[in-house]
Amino acid sequence: MDETQADSLEDNLTTTSVLSDAPSFRHVLAAPWMIMRPQRAAVQMTDGTRWAFWLSFVAGILVLALLVVVLVMWDETVGYSWSEQYSRQHFQRSFGAVWQDWHADGYFGHAEQLFLLVGILTPIATAVGAWLFLPNVHRGGRGWQSYKRVYRAVASGVGLLITFTFIIGAPMVVAINIEERGDYVEPTLVMLFVIFCLGCACVLVYWLIQATHAVAGADVPIELPPRCEGCGYDLTHRPSDERCPECGLDTSQSLEPDLCRPGCKWQACEDFVSWLSTTIAVIVSPTRFFRALKLRVLTQPADRFAQWNYLAIGVYTVCVCFVIFLIMFARFGDSPDSVVCFLPAVFFFLVPLICWTVHRIVGATVTSWFIVRQLLPDGRWAKTVMAYETAYLWVFCVYTSLLFLSFVLFEDWMSTIARVWSYRGLMPIELIVLPVSNMLLGLLWFWRYGIAYRNIRWSNY
Ligand SMILES: [Zn+2]
Repeated sequence: MDETQADSLEDNLTTTSVLSDAPSFRHVLAAPWMIMRPQRAAVQMTDGTRWAFWLSFVAGILVLALLVVVLVMWDETVGYSWSEQYSRQHFQRSFGAVWQDWHADGYFGHAEQLFLLVGILTPIATAVGAWLFLPNVHRGGRGWQSYKRVYRAVASGVGLLITFTFIIGAPMVVAINIEERGDYVEPTLVMLFVIFCLGCACVLVYWLIQATHAVAGADVPIELPPRCEGCGYDLTHRPSDERCPECGLDTSQSLEPDLCRPGCKWQACEDFVSWLSTTIAVIVSPTRFFRALKLRVLTQPADRFAQWNYLAIGVYTVCVCFVIFLIMFARFGDSPDSVVCFLPAVFFFLVPLICWTVHRIVGATVTSWFIVRQLLPDGRWAKTVMAYETAYLWVFCVYTSLLFLSFVLFEDWMSTIARVWSYRGLMPIELIVLPVSNMLLGLLWFWRYGIAYRNIRWSNY
C-alpha cells in the first residue's frame, strides 16, 4: 500500500471521531465507571482529550491501588504466631496497629510499596492488553494511531477491574482470616469461589472485546484496484477473459467472484453443520480455505465463528472431564469426592480462557508484523483470518485431552518408555512432553498464518 493511500484511509478513520462531539471532561472522568456499558465507556475515553483521558485513567489506578492496600491491611489484621509449645495462637489487631507495624522502619513502608507496585503494574498490564486487542481495532494507516485508540479502550476497563478486585478480594480476605483464626472454610465454598473468579475473568475479557470493537473504524468497504490473485499485478481495465501479463494466471481467476473467492460454508450459512465443516476445512487444508475465503465482507460472522469455537471448546472440556471420571470409576470403583465434582465447571471457564490467551498472543504477534511491514491493505483481513484460525485451537485441545486420557487408561506409559530409553532427568517426562509439544504446535501456528497471508494478500472480494 502506498503512502497516499494510507493517509487517505487514516483521514477516513479519524473523521468519524472528529465529526462526533468530543465528550466533556466530566463524561470522560465518569467513563470507566460505566461498567454496564463497555461500548460507551470506551468511546468516551477514546474521543476525550488527552488530559481528560489520563486524569480519568490515573484516578482509576489510584482507587485500585488504594483498594489493594486496604484489602491487604485487612488481611493483616488477623494473624497467628507459634508459642514455645508449638501451638498456634491467633491474634487480632486494628488497622492502626497494622499501619504502625508496616512503618516500623520508616515512612516508606509496605503500604507505599504496594501502592507503587499496583500503580506501575496497571498501566503496563493495560499496554499488554492493548497489544492483544490491537487486531480488533486496526483498519489501516499507521499502527501507532490504532494502538493509542485501543490503549484507551482497554484503560476504560479499569472501573470493572476495581469492581472485580473488590467483589473477589473482600470474600477472599474474609476466608483467609477465618482460616488464620483456626476455623474451617467449607471446600465446596472455596471451589464455588474459584469458579466465580474464572467467570469474572471471562466477563472482563468479553467486556474488553465489546469495548475495543466499539472504537474500531467503521466497517466500510475500501476501494482498491483489482489485483491478480497469483502475483498481485494491477488488473485495472483488463478484461476477465485473458491471462495475467506477469504470471499467466487466467484473469477470470482473479476477477470473477464465484471463481476466485466463493467464500466458506460459514459465510454462506451460520448453522451447526457449516460450523463443523468450516472448522475441519480450516484445520485440514488452510491453503484451500484461505484461497476461497471472502475478505471484503463484514467481520461479524467471523467473530461469531470464533465465539462458537470458544463455547464448543468449553463444552468439549466438560465432556472430557466426565469421560475421565467414568474411566476412573470403572477402573478403581471410587466415585470422585465433592470437590472433584467441581472440576468440569472450573475447566469449562479455564480452558477457553487459556485458549483465548494463546490465540491472542500468536494473532497479535502476526498482526503486529503485518502492520509494521504494511503487508495487508486492510486490518480487517488479519482480524478475519485470526477469527477463523480459532479452529486450530482444537488441535491443542484434542491432542492434550488424548494425552490425559492415555494417562488415565495406561498410567505411566510415557515414563516406562523413557526409562527404556534411559531417561534420567529430574522432572517426570510427562511434565516435559506436555508443554514442549504444545509449544511446538504453537510454533506451527506461525507457519499457518504465513499460508493464510500468502492466500489473502491480493484478495479482490
Ligand atoms: Zn499474475
